[in-house]
Amino acid sequence: MRGAVRRVVWMTACGGAAAMLAGTAAMQEPGLRGFTRDQVAAERQQEDAFRALPKAESIREYNKTISADPHNAGSPGSMKVASYILDQFKGWGLDAHIEQYQALMPTPVNRVVELVAPEEYTAVLKEPAIPEDPDSSDAGQLPTFNAYSADGDVTAEVVYVNYGVPADYEVLAKQGVDVKGRIVIARYGGSWRGIKPKVAAEHGAIGCLIYSDPRDDGYFQGDVYPKGPFRPEQGVQRGSVMDMPLYPGDPLTPGWADEKGARQLTRAEAKTLVKIPVLPISYGDALPIMRNLGGPVAPEDWRGALPVTYHLGAGPAKVHLKLSFDWEVRPLYDVIATIPGSEFPDEWVIYGNHHDAWVNGADDPVSGQAALMETARSFSELLKTGWHPKRTIVLAAWDGEEWGLLGSTEWAEKHADELKQKAVVYINGDSNGKGWLNASGSHSLQTLMTGVARDIRDPKTGKSVLDARRAHQLDEAKTDEAKKKIEAQKGLELGALGSGSDYTAFIDHLTIASLNLGYGGDDPGGIYHSIYDSFTWYTRFGDPDFSYGVALAQTSGTTIMRLADSTVLPFEFTNYATTLATYADQVAKLKKDNAGATAVDLKPLSAAIAKLKTAAAAYEKAYAGLAAVPSASLAAKKDQVAALNELVYTTERKLGYAQGLPRRDWFQHMIYAPGFYTGYGVKTLPGIREGLEEKTWNEAEKYVPITAGAITAMADQVQQAATALGALVR
Ligand SMILES: [Zn+2]
Repeated sequence: MRGAVRRVVWMTACGGAAAMLAGTAAMQEPGLRGFTRDQVAAERQQEDAFRALPKAESIREYNKTISADPHNAGSPGSMKVASYILDQFKGWGLDAHIEQYQALMPTPVNRVVELVAPEEYTAVLKEPAIPEDPDSSDAGQLPTFNAYSADGDVTAEVVYVNYGVPADYEVLAKQGVDVKGRIVIARYGGSWRGIKPKVAAEHGAIGCLIYSDPRDDGYFQGDVYPKGPFRPEQGVQRGSVMDMPLYPGDPLTPGWADEKGARQLTRAEAKTLVKIPVLPISYGDALPIMRNLGGPVAPEDWRGALPVTYHLGAGPAKVHLKLSFDWEVRPLYDVIATIPGSEFPDEWVIYGNHHDAWVNGADDPVSGQAALMETARSFSELLKTGWHPKRTIVLAAWDGEEWGLLGSTEWAEKHADELKQKAVVYINGDSNGKGWLNASGSHSLQTLMTGVARDIRDPKTGKSVLDARRAHQLDEAKTDEAKKKIEAQKGLELGALGSGSDYTAFIDHLTIASLNLGYGGDDPGGIYHSIYDSFTWYTRFGDPDFSYGVALAQTSGTTIMRLADSTVLPFEFTNYATTLATYADQVAKLKKDNAGATAVDLKPLSAAIAKLKTAAAAYEKAYAGLAAVPSASLAAKKDQVAALNELVYTTERKLGYAQGLPRRDWFQHMIYAPGFYTGYGVKTLPGIREGLEEKTWNEAEKYVPITAGAITAMADQVQQAATALGALVR
């Protein structure tokens, strides 16, 4: 999935290859977090050897092979891709197997969109093949549709609802436009797509069309495919509209794995299925509808780039929308490879990327999957030279991500108990392209990622990817204040994780510290989830020489090695405390802006964060003694080291709350969650923040002590870890 974030068009020109000097050694800091001084040189040597292994030609080859044919989850194409990945893993000597699950994956039987008044038009609903791109005429392409739409046959007047988020309905209400009993047309963007039919149904709409406005990823942005990279007239964005903020994964098995013979809900019981029929359409098909809307003229920021005046309706455009699906349960194939740890085999570092696509998917997801495969191949080479990771490395190629994170969620639910115990960190990849390092995740891993970003070289400039990213941010900064803020950053600032890719079950459900890594931003795109996301497109516009595929393999691999090889896990907690304080400030401001919220007492939250800050400082004080300890003396205290590490990596578990968030108990992390009404977009301190935003004061009030309690439990455990570490380094 992904895409929404990365597909911003960055207008800046990057600084060229001016800084093509800075040898690796000059970029590196002397120490390495988690290693004693006498271990650093050997680790550096192995990492350098690892980073020389990933090859662009190999990544190109995997991409070409996997994207050769359509391979949506549930189709024979997806099984073929899973077997190919399995064969590669095994061919490299890795211990690998396929884990099979299943899930409800309804594909379309009937799709009709007709404008019936005031003029007649039958929507094309078909992306045409392009002679310049042989894959665009492949057999077996899934038709354009939104997964988990309801069946339906409705005819009604149309209302234009902009992005179709709750704020848009407030504007409509002020204009006196009601969607009850009508079909809404929303444009893509502004939220995760699943929010649009959900909010439309909440307001009484009986059908929903979602179109790609040319302003957002079509001709307004640049030349359309095949001349340029942007969405052509009949290009359509497929995608899931499952109500994922409730729970991802198979709609029929929330919280448990769907395997053969598993208990399943009925469709009527499944809460994540959309209530109304919803279909994505091209701007070619949207234009006749938009042209025939009357009523008030749409506000300026609602207007796209179609050559008409944007009106809200309702009508006179009247549409007949008819959809039916086969509602079949189909198989999923997750490919899992394991490299056993030599010292701490029951501590797992996991790296996953999905392999299923909506169609050919050279960009989404194959660009990321190919980098994961090259990481696997490089590890297998390094193992032959005598490298022994202390911890177990698990590599996962997930199926069914596009439908709703199906393969990763079913796997995480199946192995939940074991993962809660053993998972140290989950690292996620998805689409990858030329540009800058994007890193989000648990803030206990920010120091680790700063160190990694310093040691990976940007293919374009030769600078470290940390410096390349900072230079780019400075180019983009619009004000002196923004520039100063960027200059003041000490390292890489991790974004907070919302949802939209396979890390969701790991961080939000099992509260495992997680990361999402990828490159992009210099790879404009209008082919997201269409038949034009092909090898031809990707090698023209995505990452033509696969050098950012190499950079991603190096980044993920280096991160994994530091986690798997270190004696003391490279977690750090002062960044967590500092970041939490900024979230608490935002929540306090929200409270101040809401006169009704006076009863919500935020003091326990700030007290808990202060406690974490103190514990984190104690941990750093103890940590300062680690470098000088001879590694042999730590090797003699293996059990004590293992006990310390368990305390360290299960700190994130303390941020979980078994009863979960209001109205969605699957989401158990009290710091990060996808927004109930934003979908992909993150809501930090969600129990409190969403209570304030949605003016449900009792929810906000209830979640202050729960959230503060979770942070306090984490602080207590960090304090224990500080004591344990202090005893080891004394
Ligand atoms: Zn994806």
